[in-house]
Amino acid sequence: MKPVSAMAKNVHASTTMAIDTMYKKMKAEGMDVVGFGAGEPDFPTPARIVEAAVKALQDGKTKYTPASGLMELKEAVCERTLADCQLSYQPSNVLIASGAKHNLFIAFSVLLDPGDEVILPAPYWVSYEEMIRMCHGVPVVIHAGEDQNFKITPEQLEAAITPRTKCLSLNSPSNPTGMIYTAEELAALAEVCIRHDLYIVSDEIYGRLVYDGKKSVSIASLGKDLQERTLVINGVSKTYAMTGWRIGYTLANPELTKAMSCFVSHSTSAPATFAQWGAVEALRGPQDDVERMRQAFEHRRDLIVSRINAVPGISCLKPEGAFYAMVSLRQLIGKTLYGTEIRNADDFASLFLDRSHVAVVPCTGFAAPEYIRMGYATSDETINTGIDRLAAFLQNA
Ligand code: PLP
Repeated sequence: MKPVSAMAKNVHASTTMAIDTMYKKMKAEGMDVVGFGAGEPDFPTPARIVEAAVKALQDGKTKYTPASGLMELKEAVCERTLADCQLSYQPSNVLIASGAKHNLFIAFSVLLDPGDEVILPAPYWVSYEEMIRMCHGVPVVIHAGEDQNFKITPEQLEAAITPRTKCLSLNSPSNPTGMIYTAEELAALAEVCIRHDLYIVSDEIYGRLVYDGKKSVSIASLGKDLQERTLVINGVSKTYAMTGWRIGYTLANPELTKAMSCFVSHSTSAPATFAQWGAVEALRGPQDDVERMRQAFEHRRDLIVSRINAVPGISCLKPEGAFYAMVSLRQLIGKTLYGTEIRNADDFASLFLDRSHVAVVPCTGFAAPEYIRMGYATSDETINTGIDRLAAFLQNA
């Protein structure tokens, strides 16, 4: 048989999904495993949203919607974006697709010709690199270390630009670092993007999960020109505990929105109709549940950060948003634990899972091989048990 495509050969399975699958398998086998792998809220979807979707089904809303999404949902997206980001859009600027992930995939599909370069700040969420490659683009990675709070500078951006650069991929608040670019930092990056006529793909999926009274600013809100050249990616998965509903959206100029809508029409036709009705309720209904979950995440962030930083040999910066802690293993790399040399986070994560039954995500696939990611969208009890085991694992090694 002839081989699969060269592109397919180059795509790697998502490491975050792989760890989560392993953790769920161990759990199903009855093992006492603690998981920090998941990238989803542990809360159920608020009842008002579930009820709206059930009602939609009962009312017979079971047919296809337009490929770009329900008009009611596009309007709800515009209302919420105006309220949250002070950004004004029309329904013609909105595309609804199956989660932020699918929106990102289609965004890169319509932006990239083979060989076009996308500037990708690292540490990055594992899927960006693969998606850019799947869309025949070339990821150009800029590394931003802990010393710069995991955020790139305009000088780094400028230095990475070539005649093939098509866009900058931004993610603030970031998965995995939890860092947020300030308005001033965004303005400095934006100036470079405008001067080099770059698109900006701005993934703002964690925009409402921010702590210490901080605010997440959309780079698109910094000027009309920026709004034109930015594709804002967002969705209901993280904010409303709706990961399984697969509803996300893009806000972009009408030309891009139309091109993206064409892609949807020939691939998925549109996301599930009842899920779109649930998302209308999520965005338009009372937002108290969002604040309740945000407060819970902030409390857990405080707990996990203080506990990690009390364990000798590891440390982490305080995340400003999202629900992940990036834990530095720098002091452990090159050491031998339980007879195994720790060359990178992969070695550490598999040894820790094997010996202590705690699942963490190695950040090797996030271009940060000296770090693990611990998701704290989980209970205080899980956080305490996991860090107790981590401390014992390191102490007894
Ligand atoms: N963008 C980032 C940065 C994420 O961390 C995730 C999920 O982990 C997504 C997008 C995907 O979100 P969705 O569930 O809406 O596809």
